[in-house]
Amino acid sequence: MIQTTVLVIGGGATGAGIARDLALRGVDVTLVDRDGLDSGTTDRSHGLLHSGARYAETDRPSAEESIAENRILKEIAGEAVRETGGLFVQLGDDDPAYFDRKREACEDIGIPTEVIDGDEAKARAPGLPDDVERAFTVPDAITYPARLVAMNAADAREHGASIYPHAPVEEMTVENGRITSVSVGGMVNDEISAEYVVNAAGPWAGKIGAMAGVDINMFLSRGAMTAVEYDELDVVLNRAREPSNADIVVPHESEVILGTTSVPIDDPDDYDRDPAEIDELRTKSAELLPPVEDAPERRTWWGVRPLYAPDDGAGDGRDVSRDFFRLDHADDGVENFVSAVGGKLTTYRQMAESTSDLVAERLGVDAESTTAEQELIGADDPELLDAFVDEFSAAGIADADTVATADRLSPADD
Ligand SMILES: Cc1cc2nc3c(=O)[nH]c(=O)nc-3n(C[C@H](O)[C@H](O)[C@H](O)COP(=O)(O)OP(=O)(O)OC[C@H]3O[C@@H](n4cnc5c(N)ncnc54)[C@H](O)[C@@H]3O)c2cc1C
Repeated sequence: MIQTTVLVIGGGATGAGIARDLALRGVDVTLVDRDGLDSGTTDRSHGLLHSGARYAETDRPSAEESIAENRILKEIAGEAVRETGGLFVQLGDDDPAYFDRKREACEDIGIPTEVIDGDEAKARAPGLPDDVERAFTVPDAITYPARLVAMNAADAREHGASIYPHAPVEEMTVENGRITSVSVGGMVNDEISAEYVVNAAGPWAGKIGAMAGVDINMFLSRGAMTAVEYDELDVVLNRAREPSNADIVVPHESEVILGTTSVPIDDPDDYDRDPAEIDELRTKSAELLPPVEDAPERRTWWGVRPLYAPDDGAGDGRDVSRDFFRLDHADDGVENFVSAVGGKLTTYRQMAESTSDLVAERLGVDAESTTAEQELIGADDPELLDAFVDEFSAAGIADADTVATADRLSPADD
């Protein structure tokens, strides 16, 4: 039996962020992931470090959290972030009133914008179509998920945490309203006894909750992505219209990532992948950036959003809040168990801080979170970051062109 103070289940951005936050407060933490770290949704995102503009007029809390975290991560995450800036682009058929509404909402929240005309937009993003009416700038950036996760885990370990990739949670024992032991396979192959258990299993949070007899009303939606060759874009492109499929283009050095779609699913381990979604990504993204229509494809993949909808989400899931939720399962009769669900990659640190606040309070730990001020380990050293990625089997698909390892590209995704 392994003893630890806190067991964190899930080594995506959220779980790695929680492990780091608690370790910096001096708490003894063990993190387990069933696969390599960064093998869930974190690795399957656009890697867009949102400025919050996308949510400004519809989901103000998410927008406020995004701009706050966007600023913090630019300070602390070094080579896991690239400051590209972003544009919201209005094309000929797009509603000008929507453009104005979104920009005003951004300004109201404190997301800085600048309106530029069509010619200036084309100068900043060569390849935009002839019918660009105008654009406004936002402080979007991009992040490399594998590096971000690996550096959080390495920082946690630096402060005493134990990190176990390839260690699936298989069962839990609940006695007298407490989780008394967690059975972990793979590299651990042992029981873990923890004073407190954190469920950071992303789209699998419902399955982990069920092991402890707790219902978590997840709203899962899949999204398709495709990376194509294109080396002339250096700024994130967003279509200035109501959110729909294929309205974001994220630049990497020699490719762009086109995304995404939103289709509700039931099981994160077993869902259809419809090739028509990839075709749609191409066609619709080409309205915003015509050269991508025929650009050679590099990779395609799907991810599952771990959204939380206590009141049953509707439609394709675009209306479900991107805010994060900290579910204290003492309210469900399991007193040493919390789940961190919803949210976005952009807000992982805040989600981790909030969850760790609850855990610290329950453990009687007074230390406060310092993750917003302390630079992450290896921030200025991309080679060290990629060594952490290797060490934690965190190499993935979303940033496979940038991060110097790519050992986990599965044929099923290509
Ligand atoms: C297509 C798509 C595009 C997106 N684009 C963006 C974007 O550009 N910007 C942004 O901010 N957000 C984006 N998001 C949202 C963002 O990616 C997620 O909200 C975030 O990455 C979730 O991180 P997480 O750590 O909570 O979950 P995950 O990354 O899924 O981590 C959960 C971990 O739990 C592990 N696990 C599961 N079961 C077990 C078990 N039994 N035992 C041990 N471990 C287990 C998994 O292996 C996994 O590593 C996107 C989402 C999708 C689907």
